[in-house]
Amino acid sequence: MSYDTQPKASHFVDGAYLEDTAGERIPVIYPATGAEIGVVYAATPAVIEKAITSGLRAQAEWAGMMGVERGRVLRRAADILRERNRDLSVLETYDTGKPLQETLVADATSAADALEYFGGLAGSLTGEHVPLGADWGYTVREPLGLCVGIGAWNYPTQIACWKGAPALACGNAMIFKPSETTPLCALKVAEILIEAGAPAGLYNVIQGAGAVGGALITDPRVNKVSLTGSVPTGQKVYATAAAQMKHVTMELGGKSPLIVFEDADIDNAVGGAINGNFYSSGQVCSNGTRVFVHEAVKDAFLARLSERLKGVVMGDPMDEAVNIGPMVSDRQREIVMGYIAKGLEEGATLVSGGTAPKQDGFYVEPTVFSDVTDEMTIAREEIFGPVMSVLPFCDEDEVITRANATEFGLSAGVFTRDLTRAHRVIGKLRAGSCFINSYNDAPVELPFGGVKASGVGRENSKAAIEHYSQLKSVFVRMGDVEAPF
Ligand code: NAD
Repeated sequence: MSYDTQPKASHFVDGAYLEDTAGERIPVIYPATGAEIGVVYAATPAVIEKAITSGLRAQAEWAGMMGVERGRVLRRAADILRERNRDLSVLETYDTGKPLQETLVADATSAADALEYFGGLAGSLTGEHVPLGADWGYTVREPLGLCVGIGAWNYPTQIACWKGAPALACGNAMIFKPSETTPLCALKVAEILIEAGAPAGLYNVIQGAGAVGGALITDPRVNKVSLTGSVPTGQKVYATAAAQMKHVTMELGGKSPLIVFEDADIDNAVGGAINGNFYSSGQVCSNGTRVFVHEAVKDAFLARLSERLKGVVMGDPMDEAVNIGPMVSDRQREIVMGYIAKGLEEGATLVSGGTAPKQDGFYVEPTVFSDVTDEMTIAREEIFGPVMSVLPFCDEDEVITRANATEFGLSAGVFTRDLTRAHRVIGKLRAGSCFINSYNDAPVELPFGGVKASGVGRENSKAAIEHYSQLKSVFVRMGDVEAPF
């Protein structure tokens, strides 16, 4: 397949590609081969300044437009993304190494859903009238101003739009900084928004690592930061934003529980565990990596899982028959292999996988450990790779306590045929995004986000509007003003 992976320039600012090779060189590595397929340069202070000034100018123009006009631009961008889904999916695969089988249905399509959904909402963002006896008041929903989006590397197109779409719908401008590991896809989103009619500067993309992110969020002209990343990065970014009282959305890591009760449909539970551990080679923040399986069905669950693992096709992610691609980077492969070694060292039973095949690219086999205990490192820390831990349990109260015994609270899932138990257990699990008899669905209509260390705020759904706008309230006196003197 011939495909030009070298972008026209590193940044997309003020409606056009922009280059400044004075910044730090960032190689773009194709995870399936380890080959360098492009290069970008980190944003210099001059690029950052241009992104901010053009963003401020565009925001003033954009906020003055009618909501339906803004929405039309977003919905047009959604259509373009869908028309170009195949090309964008190939680019996403080059950027991340995720199989084309996945990227064709999960990345540009999900990004388009966000643009379509928030485009539809843009015309109905209103305040309310508040009667106050003879007087009255009203509220106005106003944009925050200039927002910064900072992305992780696992879903570069989706994250660019999950942040950009609600921000723009509310009348803000956005500067998006992709992860330095996956710099390509967001540039296409910026290009498409211009094509769809967005004013130049409204959605700028600039490259770089933590230093560029830091420079953006410390600038007093920036009003909000939305980060998708790890908890340690979230803590730093949140603290920096707090110093200037900026709004934040934090979408961070997880170590989520997936609970399989003895009455569950085992095939569906195994399907949920596969989706919640091996999709995108396990590089998904909401993954249900602690799979609690009731003692009575543990053997049946593991037997069926082993059976289904025979369906793994690992290899060239551009081959649409392949369903497991490489890790995003050599470093991520090393991290995951380190956790697998820890699992073995601490006494977990290896059921399948466990090795990194000796071939080009950063591959790790889908790995399952059973007899995992709550104290083991693989049951406590986020691995962000294809490693499933199966932990046996006997009793509902016990499993709820164990499931909640973590600093994280992004997601949780329950498999059972007992309707009341499903809702009772979900009600007691401390997590933001939950699933009953399913795992890892993320429709734009439902809020997405975590509790505890997993985050602050929500993406998607009407809830995201709260995080990209603020209310002005206005009191209107109809009579004379009474004053003490
Ligand atoms: P990371 O925390 O290393 O980096 C995330 C982003 O933050 C990158 O763009 C990085 O350049 C930037 N950054 C790093 N230091 C910064 C600083 N001091 N100031 C400003 N920006 C800074 O995370 P990652 O390795 O790219 O992604 C993996 C992590 O992201 C995992 O923990 C995963 O769970 C989490 N994640 C969460 C979600 C979610 O929606 N909750 C989704 C995907 C990934």
